[in-house]
Amino acid sequence: MELNQLTIKNAKGGLKAKKFSSVELTKACLEQIKKHNRELNAFITITEEDALEQAKKADNLASQGQAWETKPLLGIPIALKDLFSTKGMKTTAASNVLKDYVPEYDATVVKKLKDAGAIILGKLNHDAWGHGASGENSDFGPTKNPWNKEYVPGGSSSGSAVSVASDMCIAATGTDTGGSSRQPASFCNIVGLKPTYGRVSRYGIISMASSLDSIGHITKTVEDSALFLNVTAGKDANDATTSSKPVPDYLKDLKKGIRGLKLGISRKDLENVDDEVKKPFLFAEKQLKDLGAEIIDINLKYSDYAIACYYIIQPSEVSSNLARYDGVRFGSVRQNFGEEAKRRIMLGTFTLSAGYYDAYYRKAMQVRTLIKQDFENAFKQVDAIISPVSPTLPWKLGEKINDPLKMYLSDILTVTANLAGIPGLSVPIGFSKGLPVGMQILGQQFSEAKLFQIGHAYEQTTEWHKMKPIL
Ligand code: GLN
Repeated sequence: MELNQLTIKNAKGGLKAKKFSSVELTKACLEQIKKHNRELNAFITITEEDALEQAKKADNLASQGQAWETKPLLGIPIALKDLFSTKGMKTTAASNVLKDYVPEYDATVVKKLKDAGAIILGKLNHDAWGHGASGENSDFGPTKNPWNKEYVPGGSSSGSAVSVASDMCIAATGTDTGGSSRQPASFCNIVGLKPTYGRVSRYGIISMASSLDSIGHITKTVEDSALFLNVTAGKDANDATTSSKPVPDYLKDLKKGIRGLKLGISRKDLENVDDEVKKPFLFAEKQLKDLGAEIIDINLKYSDYAIACYYIIQPSEVSSNLARYDGVRFGSVRQNFGEEAKRRIMLGTFTLSAGYYDAYYRKAMQVRTLIKQDFENAFKQVDAIISPVSPTLPWKLGEKINDPLKMYLSDILTVTANLAGIPGLSVPIGFSKGLPVGMQILGQQFSEAKLFQIGHAYEQTTEWHKMKPIL
């Protein structure tokens, strides 16, 4: 196995045992980026010199011993979605509006990752501002799916998923406002996490829709996801929506198994799922049963309204958040907004305007409450809920880009978690037509440890997550 193919856990093991250095590990990732980024277009900015400098420092610290106690990611090369503010490093939001913007400070998550010893390799491509499900809305060009370069890698965290799936980095950050970490992870055969709203600080992340935005993690295994969340979770004085609930050790219950756990499935929501996705999902259901889980049918009554509800609340908040890019204070002129951002600004301005607010925004907020209650009721019966991540396989580049409604409908299974503020973990469950399929595990607020427990148990019985695309 090449060094850049390692997981966080194994890379850490190798570094600790001095089998290789962080400089060697970082160079292996940079080599892979040089070989494949031109074609896959995962990175917007590559910070080679800086990364090597950091790696040298990490090696020095490691040679002094003890450093891993306080620096759990010491020497591990990771990459950041370009929505994360990075001090002195260009942060574009994948939009021409911010193409030359260099922030004065680090996002809290970036600071935490740096403090934990991680090496930052650069900034990753995505749908501009986080708007999209295919990666094609980037002003820096579309990212390609490494499993088939004619297909989309999912979005909006397209570069995050592709950089991890093609081993250009060991792990990456994403964001998830309506599925943007879970869906691209699923399209690229890797693991995506959307934590509970308020579990990880949003400070310094360029806002999309503030009441729905979550930070996401993209990793090669479930265990890595737990390791990553151990670093990023927690209260932040700079983000009033972060919770002061204590952060557990997410690795603690990982190996507990799932015997006796109750997993819910909403069968009605499977009706709109394509057979190529349904088949691997039903097989995964059987595997979970074999592991000792009890499967229980549940009814999410209001899930049919989730897309309509999300696509009112989300553009409403987008129109407010993007109003600050007026060309006076940040970035360049408003003419540089892309088509999709303009569409959402107009939609949101409409739904919030006097006369329409009650009919659209307030109604949507009421439906949001019903969706949240749906989940609360379900979690009285079950420990977690499983479903496919996406109703379809990855689609061809260009296939939906001129049909926004079709693109929006692909979010049908993921947006509910954001509306309810609950966590979701997506794991690889197989392939159809050579393209990856993913399953999401949803849980009650702050139940990430349980999601890792379920995801890890499943992962141990399958080989899917070990499969690599031929680049
Ligand atoms: N695809 C969804 C949208 O376009 C979700 C995006 C996200 O999670 N950032 O809004």
